[in-house]
Amino acid sequence: MIIIIDFGSQTTHLISRRLREISIDTMIVEPEEFFEKTQNNTINGVILSGGPGDVYKSDALTIDAKLFEMNIPVLGICYGEQVIAEILGGSVKPGTKKEYGPAELKIIKSSPLFNFCHPEQREGSIESMDSSASPQNDNATQPSSTVEIPKSISVWMNHGDEVEKVPNGFTAIGVTDTIPFAAIADEERKIYGIQFHPEVVHTQFGLQILKNFAVICGLEPKDQPITKEFIEKQILDIKDSVGGHNVIGALSGGVDSSIACLMVHRAIGDQFTAVYIDSGLMRTGETEELKKVFSDTYKMKVLIVDAQKEFIDNLKGITYPEQKRKIIGKTFIDVLEREAEKFNATFLVQGTIYPDVIESAGSKHAKNIKSHHNVGGLPKDMKVMLLEPLRNFYKDEVRTIGTLLKLPKSVTHRHPFPGPGLAIRIIGEVTEEKLSIVRRVDKIVRDEISAAGLDDTLWQVFAVFTGIKTTGVRGDNRAYGETIAIRAVESLDVMSSNFAKLNWDLLEKISVRIVTEVTEANRVVYDITNKPPGTVEWE
Ligand code: GLN
Repeated sequence: MIIIIDFGSQTTHLISRRLREISIDTMIVEPEEFFEKTQNNTINGVILSGGPGDVYKSDALTIDAKLFEMNIPVLGICYGEQVIAEILGGSVKPGTKKEYGPAELKIIKSSPLFNFCHPEQREGSIESMDSSASPQNDNATQPSSTVEIPKSISVWMNHGDEVEKVPNGFTAIGVTDTIPFAAIADEERKIYGIQFHPEVVHTQFGLQILKNFAVICGLEPKDQPITKEFIEKQILDIKDSVGGHNVIGALSGGVDSSIACLMVHRAIGDQFTAVYIDSGLMRTGETEELKKVFSDTYKMKVLIVDAQKEFIDNLKGITYPEQKRKIIGKTFIDVLEREAEKFNATFLVQGTIYPDVIESAGSKHAKNIKSHHNVGGLPKDMKVMLLEPLRNFYKDEVRTIGTLLKLPKSVTHRHPFPGPGLAIRIIGEVTEEKLSIVRRVDKIVRDEISAAGLDDTLWQVFAVFTGIKTTGVRGDNRAYGETIAIRAVESLDVMSSNFAKLNWDLLEKISVRIVTEVTEANRVVYDITNKPPGTVEWE
């Protein structure tokens, strides 16, 4: 297997997910427990993850240099590359230019790590870009004169520090306009460092680079998609672990909770009741639609609890996003626990998926980015046990599971909607009045996007009540009104995403409709920030 040493990156688990996709076993360990935890495993290779720390600081996380004497291939990603440089005698410094987002990587030297990474080259269709440097023949690392080295591939960066000097034995194999050591290799010892993240989908040939590393480790990667049998086994597992107990589920109507609840419903039928809490933070028409789909079509027992007043009261006067998220999480769980008691339920189903876990500081060295109500907002002394069938999956995998369960596209491909709802799309205190504004604006945005046929290409699209008032002019009178921001993003697994380059005419149409139909709004702006550094939701 390949061991992934976790220095606290938001995307460490994504590395293991990518390797799972190509049937490579992995284990994620903390740096301080590497030797102890892996002594009984056959280690074919080690990946050092990224992380929020700075390697040159005295309290920085590191790894015992013995790792590099074990004679196994090592790949350092981002912070991982910096760790390699620091430990083996190179150096790392704060970069003068920081890179967050896309960059062009120029491959300047052939390496087995970059096999099949040519924009026009497909695996199996053309020979590797330099057969003399293929993993079967790793003594020769010089590019052959007849093979053209690819010019550049686009990669995803997320760093402020950079390698300043490489250790002995290493050479640069890739550069960007900003950094000279974007990719480094000691081919003899099979130690590689890359400043970009191959695990995120925005890195072109990212999966290929991980496959290449697996091959360098002597493993045989092969594609392994999620299958029907795999899901059936999960459903049987749910049935076994629940036994004769009653189960309730937190159903929000979003993709994750819908699919998690439907899996449990398939497993135990009427032993399961889905609870939908109307928090008053939902969008127009949502409650009615949910009732139609789940009780009428799927014959699931659905209980609708009206808790609007409780949420609004608890949010009174609260402006800090983390506090809002925590209060909403706590209110959800209070209501759910009350319902669980009524149903005598032992288990509570939640549609938690992996990005919720990791963003809520779900691994030891990861930083808390935002508290997802279903993870970071949970009280310590919960009376019910959690059942989270999707906890290890990413959204696109959840959608695949839904499709294999033959759920309609209206369920599997709904745009994600956050648990805390519109509360985190209102900057500052949540009030009925602001909710009413953002609800009306949101409907316009979504309707126009649907009319333009863009639902399938966008990951999410929504409006934000920014709380900034600006001066306008209406009917020759001075107006002083709200600023609405529109956010539309493309993503695959939400660990990274791009803002969508929407057509100007469409944006204009949306903007004109907003300022004419929602007269409280004076101004409309478009959010052109990628993740990282911006998260998808504003709060
Ligand atoms: N904290 C380090 C930097 O900013 C590494 C970042 C990372 O691993 N994503 O360079």
